[in-house]
Parts: sequence; C-alpha cells; structure tokens
Amino acid sequence: MKVVLTGLNYINHARELGMDLPEYPIIFLKPSTAVIGPGDPIVLPEEVGRVDYEGEIAVVIGKRCKAISEEEVPKVIRGITALNDVTARDVQRRDGQWTRAKSYDTFCPISDELIEDFDLSQPIEVETRVNGRLRQRDSSANMIFSIPYLVSFISRVMTLEEGDVIATGTPPGIGPLNSGDEVEVSVIHKGRRVEVVNPVV
Ligand code: MG
Repeated sequence: MKVVLTGLNYINHARELGMDLPEYPIIFLKPSTAVIGPGDPIVLPEEVGRVDYEGEIAVVIGKRCKAISEEEVPKVIRGITALNDVTARDVQRRDGQWTRAKSYDTFCPISDELIEDFDLSQPIEVETRVNGRLRQRDSSANMIFSIPYLVSFISRVMTLEEGDVIATGTPPGIGPLNSGDEVEVSVIHKGRRVEVVNPVV
C-alpha cells in the first residue's frame, strides 16, 4: 500500500507558502509506516521545529490500474475519505525536497470511513479544526488539478493498486500543531461526512 500526495493544488495555498503555481501536478509519497487511524496520536518528533496539519480530500483506489484516462478514473476509485498530510514545515524548507518532512511515523492520519456513493462532478468539501476551531474550509471546486486529472496523471507514472491512497492537496489555512492539541479533518460530499480526529502528543 502506498500513499501518493499532491503538493500545491489550491492557488491560495501556493501563495501562502510563497511558491509559484505548478504547471503540472507535483506529487510525492508517504511511507505506509506513517499511516495511523482515527484516535491514534500524532507524535511530534523532537527538534524538528514547526509541524503543521494539512487537511485533504483523499481517494482510495479499488482496482489495480495503469495509464488510465480521466474518464476511467471513477471506475477505479472505491471511495472518498479524509486525510491529514502532517508536515514538518521547517524540515521541508531546510531539505529542499519533502521526503523527511512528510514521512515521520504517525504523519498520515486517514479516516476509516469511505464515501462510496460519490460523484466527482459534484463539489467535495474539506474542513480542518484544531481544538474545535475551524482552520481550513474549501472545496474541490477550487483545485488547480481536478481529481480525475490527478489520478490519471499519477497512473501514468506508477501502477496504482487496490488500497492505495491518493491525497489531493491542502487548501489555505495551514498552521502548527502543538502537544495537547486535537486535530480533526472532515470531508463532506453529497450529504455524507467522514472524518479523522487525532490527539497530538
Ligand atoms: Mg499536503
């Protein structure tokens, strides 16, 4: 199982990081050892500086596929879920590439619920709360690269397998996590809501 993530897929998030808008999707991986479920603690590593939440809409692949078209994408998606792309922000800036910043154990909370009755032509909302306070709220309608485009693009790079997860980038409003916080990422679509809530230690 692999987790493939997208950088800078909302215009205003690219701006808040001071980065140029991408001409094509910037993708990266998290190891499966970073994945945790609802209620599991996000463990802040020592001496890495700031660690941020990034609430994201994710899709779970239901069928092995390679080099599929955008039109074929809905058929290979099992469902939509909520993911927190936890990021060691200072490390990300220092290293220049993102592997270490994104890969610490516990840095990939994923909901255990799926929205299987989805329609990718309809908006998908994402919300992030820290200690109950709303920090991020946005819609798939504001993505630079749509979910069908992204999944097709990634499938032309690597074979996607059943159970793989693709995260679609975070909207504006990122911010730090501190020990003792509780962070919640929710995804809302067609009247259904799935979430992943984790304490930070
Ligand atoms: Mg992200």
